[in-house]
Amino acid sequence: MAENSTPRIVSLVDQRPRRLAAPAAAFAEATRARPTGHLQDSLQRPLHDLRISVTDRCNFRCSYCMPKEVFDKDYVYLPQPELLSFEEITRIARQFVAHGVEKIRLTGGEPLLRKNLDVLIAQLAALRTAQGKPLDLTLTTNGSLLARKAAALKAAGLQRVTVSLDGLDDAVFKRMNDVDFPVSDVLEGIAAAQAAGLGPVKVNMVVKRGTNDHEILPMARHFRGSGVVLRFIEFMDVGATNGWRMDDVLPSSAVVNRIHAAMPLVALEAAQAGETAQRWGYAGADGRYDPQLGEIGVISSVTQAFCGDCSRARLSTEGQLYLCLFASQGYDLRSLVRAGSDDGDLASAIAHIWRGRGDRYSALRAGQPPDNGLAAKRVEMSYIGG
Ligand code: SAM
Ligand code: SF4
Ligand code: SF4
Repeated sequence: MAENSTPRIVSLVDQRPRRLAAPAAAFAEATRARPTGHLQDSLQRPLHDLRISVTDRCNFRCSYCMPKEVFDKDYVYLPQPELLSFEEITRIARQFVAHGVEKIRLTGGEPLLRKNLDVLIAQLAALRTAQGKPLDLTLTTNGSLLARKAAALKAAGLQRVTVSLDGLDDAVFKRMNDVDFPVSDVLEGIAAAQAAGLGPVKVNMVVKRGTNDHEILPMARHFRGSGVVLRFIEFMDVGATNGWRMDDVLPSSAVVNRIHAAMPLVALEAAQAGETAQRWGYAGADGRYDPQLGEIGVISSVTQAFCGDCSRARLSTEGQLYLCLFASQGYDLRSLVRAGSDDGDLASAIAHIWRGRGDRYSALRAGQPPDNGLAAKRVEMSYIGG
């Protein structure tokens, strides 16, 4: 069914929490917990990744993320003083790194809309892991400003980028980004990122059944052998405004089957524990994986939950710590920072909050009725950071 004919259930309320919930100060005041580089939550999952949303604004209106009906001209974004400054972000990130974080991803909203982002990147690139190594520092972008900024991002210390692109056909892509943005400009951004050495570049395609699933094969053919790793993401029920329905989800298994029928694939091992994507390599004439042809990934957040390995924390644009993409409540680290707490307080709060973490939304979702009343309370992805 074409997207235009799909009834959308769109909530017209602002889903951001009205009050910064759960002050983190109480956690800081509990017994002091010093960073050891190894922090585990209540399900023995380590703290390994930190995603930082640097803005809640975006120049796209992807229907699955910031639908125009909600994010219209009257929508009120966070005022500048509410945003964490670069110094505040770096200070908080330093404590996460002391607790074992080795990978930081900048996201949003559209992160390249944040002014002077290269200054933040340089500050984060100077951090060292508990073992004295540089961080794996990366960024997810819609690619619209990448051609202009790729070289400066690399020079500041960014290592890699992930670019979102939902199809190669202009009509399909424009309908999905809903701001008439052409495919060619995103492809230019990807080429600029490759030329700047921000590789291997990953491309994320959110697949919506009936909307862009006919773009799966053209996208696979286009990026096969190009050095770009194309990843297919199941349309997720994140936030409360995108009118998510299970019928719109095309399971990753179907994506793999379609590609395999045209271009044979072989399963590849996970590159590291906690990886979100399952990897598949293109087979050569001998039936074995051919690295020259490259690989794809599938992110099956809906049909095959990966909560068991989830080592990701999220820091929202205004400094709330979220323990799950589907959480309805965050922990207010910004107040702690702005109240003059020292690094020990901050580290202690993070430790106590992470140790209490038991979130595993996707794993539990499978056994829930479609509308369990939780959707209306979830925060939006553009705010929490995808
Ligand atoms: N604006 C940047 C971008 O689009 O790459 C970064 C932020 S965006 C929220 C991060 C990622 O989340 C993108 O790859 C986007 O496609 C994905 N995303 C957003 N809403 C989604 C949904 N409902 N289901 C699956 N993926 C989604
Ligand atoms: Fe913007 Fe990214 Fe959300 Fe699309 S997915 S609306 S580009 S934040
Ligand atoms: Fe992690 Fe939450 Fe996603 Fe599960 S649902 S993988 S806990 S972010």
